[in-house]
Amino acid sequence: MRKPIIAGNWKMNNTVTETLTLLKEITSLDLDKEVEKVVVVPFTSAYSAVDLLKDSDIKVGCQNMYYEESGAYTGEISPLMLNDLGIEYVIIGHSERREIFGEDDNLINNKVISALKHNINPILCCGETLEERENNKQEEKVRNQLINDLKDVSAEDITKVVIAYEPIWAIGTGKTASSNDAEEMCKFIRNLLKELYNEELAEKVRIQYGGSVKPNNVSEIMEKENIDGALVGGASLKADNYAALVNFRR
Ligand code: PEP
Repeated sequence: MRKPIIAGNWKMNNTVTETLTLLKEITSLDLDKEVEKVVVVPFTSAYSAVDLLKDSDIKVGCQNMYYEESGAYTGEISPLMLNDLGIEYVIIGHSERREIFGEDDNLINNKVISALKHNINPILCCGETLEERENNKQEEKVRNQLINDLKDVSAEDITKVVIAYEPIWAIGTGKTASSNDAEEMCKFIRNLLKELYNEELAEKVRIQYGGSVKPNNVSEIMEKENIDGALVGGASLKADNYAALVNFRR
């Protein structure tokens, strides 16, 4: 019922030239049409990526945005700018934004509301630190994040949000949560959505797992009942790896 979604988060990698080379390679490969495919590129590559992918079924996302439409916000990018480019997804609240740039739940909530208002689908990230996991606080952490980040998101809009569960200790470290641990947290998130919305809506929301997903572990993760996709950093930067992630069923 829920269409799988594989999103490659390029982070601060790839110039425009490198973007065009990588995307040409990706589009030359045979990719599963039944899987929703997203490349989440740096702002500077967004225009070129949308243009190059205009005849393909690969969608383009950005990695952040500010919530205001315009104004004196030096260095920021607005939802109007992304929407005008044809950007369909935006990552909001990635742990690197939270931890390195000090984004809090209030700011993240404003961004989620603003993205939805401008017809951009948020990929909302949540997840616990290693210390929180070791103290068995992962559910409490994710529950608090999601309650605050989804404040005032309507029942009509919640199914446009993709939630990415990304334990911070598994991002870029090579340590993946076991598929059972990942499923347990994604199930916890779906149950929380049932509590915040209702069962029917919660069953429609797509939940991704992110954290050192690679071609060799993606199928095991994607087999899990409550995991509908993957948000992938490092492994998405090579065309054959990205294709192998998308083609997890093969
Ligand atoms: C990410 O950037 O969201 C991520 C999960 O990175 P990696 O796949 O490299 O762990």
